[in-house]
Amino acid sequence: MNVRYKLASMLAVAILIIVIATSFPAVASDDTEMALVGGTVYASPSAEPLPNAIVLASGGKIIAVGKRGDVAIPKSARVVDCAGKVVVAGFWNSHIHFETGWENAANIPAAQLEQHVQEMLTRWGFTTVWDLGSLPSNTLTIRQRVESREIPGPKILMAGDIFPKNGHPVYLPPEMQLPEAATPDEASQMARNYLQMGLDGIKLFTGAYMGNKPVVNMDTAIVKAAVDVAHAQGRRVFAHPQNRVGVDNALAGGVDILAHTIPSEPGYTEVELSRMKQQHTALIPTLTLWTTVVQDPAIANQLVQSGVDELKAYFSQGGTILFGTDVGFISKYDTTQEFEFMGRAMEWRDILASLTTNPSNFFHADMNGRVEKGMDADLVVLDADPSADVRNFAKVAYTIRRGRIIYSK
Ligand SMILES: [Zn+2]
Repeated sequence: MNVRYKLASMLAVAILIIVIATSFPAVASDDTEMALVGGTVYASPSAEPLPNAIVLASGGKIIAVGKRGDVAIPKSARVVDCAGKVVVAGFWNSHIHFETGWENAANIPAAQLEQHVQEMLTRWGFTTVWDLGSLPSNTLTIRQRVESREIPGPKILMAGDIFPKNGHPVYLPPEMQLPEAATPDEASQMARNYLQMGLDGIKLFTGAYMGNKPVVNMDTAIVKAAVDVAHAQGRRVFAHPQNRVGVDNALAGGVDILAHTIPSEPGYTEVELSRMKQQHTALIPTLTLWTTVVQDPAIANQLVQSGVDELKAYFSQGGTILFGTDVGFISKYDTTQEFEFMGRAMEWRDILASLTTNPSNFFHADMNGRVEKGMDADLVVLDADPSADVRNFAKVAYTIRRGRIIYSK
């Protein structure tokens, strides 16, 4: 190596150090030690409560969980008083969109972007979210701004949308260019492109809502083509079903997750339920969504109850439920109502599973979803106990991702 080259490379290293130093402002480090002290810990949905506990995090991981007195708090640790509060694993919202109000994310000032992330996601405890279809480049920009630590936020996963031919849903602006697949080959190509550009999964509109006109469904062969590409790369496929045919084609094509219930139909059939169970299909209820799709509150209530009944039917057969609200498409950010609706079909522990262990298992995030030594320090501190009232899942005091507070009340 000649001297000039050596000097140049030293300079490059020096610049790199400056760039790294300036792009990780404030405390913002995974290595910060944190001690959550005095709260009641629910380590997992099946665990007994551990009162007056200490959760110790370091390097982005949980390094100890135990009773106060059994766990020593290092002097260097940041202590968070959790007396009277409840500590659970960080929540997943497996159905969101960075859509309304998130346009042109590259040019949104950091403070504004941070505030929006907080209002929609972190103040409700979300440490991991699935964007089920928005403008991919825009969501990837938000993800980049979060991962660079410019903005405190959740882990963002994203699925790329594929629509059936002539299936442009009436609720999306007509000028919006949508990827419509007319053939299995086109669907394969679209799926490959999405995964190539760094997306994490695929979302198929197996039914597209056309207003007064009939729903446009996606053929099973097209569903299967996209599913095969995703599965070959170890990726999951979501479906927006809209009606019964949309559910049946999704199941026949091997889709992994139904991203909504189908409240306009009179429930799933026994055949559908047993097929969902057999294929380990997961269901995202999105019950709050059904309060927003019609004007008449009486009809909205009927739709919600129909969704609750479908949730109950699948859950009672042992089906996997993933929490998800379609927030970012709907503007109701508050999760209280979703918990209340889910509580009509499930116990609080099952709702906790839908927020934590079910998605971490389903998406193979093996070190996520429980408050145990060695797991990711993704945590939610609640102001009130969800075992007393499921709506308390929405009363978030702190949201912590990889040992770093990303929201505090
Ligand atoms: Zn959606």
